[in-house]
Amino acid sequence: MTEGYIKFQCDWAKEEILIPDPILQSLKKERSRLYNLNLIGMYPDGIGFGNISIRTEGTLFIITGSATGQFATLNRSHYAFVSAYSFAGNSISCQGQTKASAESLTHAAVYEALPEVGAVVHVHSLWLWEKLLNHYPTTSSEIEYGTPEMAFAVKKLAAEIKDIEEKIIIMGGHREGILAFGNDLEEATTQILKIYNRSQND
Ligand SMILES: [Zn+2]
Repeated sequence: MTEGYIKFQCDWAKEEILIPDPILQSLKKERSRLYNLNLIGMYPDGIGFGNISIRTEGTLFIITGSATGQFATLNRSHYAFVSAYSFAGNSISCQGQTKASAESLTHAAVYEALPEVGAVVHVHSLWLWEKLLNHYPTTSSEIEYGTPEMAFAVKKLAAEIKDIEEKIIIMGGHREGILAFGNDLEEATTQILKIYNRSQND
């Protein structure tokens, strides 16, 4: 275990949440574009990967729940609302029929850094990650997934690339992990798909 490692904590209120219909439709639509390319999905060992979120108020957001990667389509019960979080404490509070994932803090980091960002997409792809690593803004390979350091590093990088056209961050210490963001979820998803298509043809 890494020295000083703070275990991720999720304070979960298992209860129904209200998701406005336009938000639900957008989540459904954009997630399927990513799911169809296996950028969101499930590994053979049953562990799901990838998550998407939409900002709802302040730096709070609705995000796909943990362990939903295996489903081709999601319904209301598969989302969680992140109602509070702490980077330093490596903790979140969430509501929903499903828990929000530890990666929620990475989403929160982007929302904190950039008020204009309305949606965040986090996908996994080994080949794309290897291709983009250190060619796009990349967090240190020393910083591991699920740590406060990752949230702080993403927040810092997101602020730095504010004015760059392509809003993409490679998570150096989170193998396969790529982040994209945009004013809305369609834009964030399109960022990933553009680079996916272009990199495939390289
Ligand atoms: Zn990940």
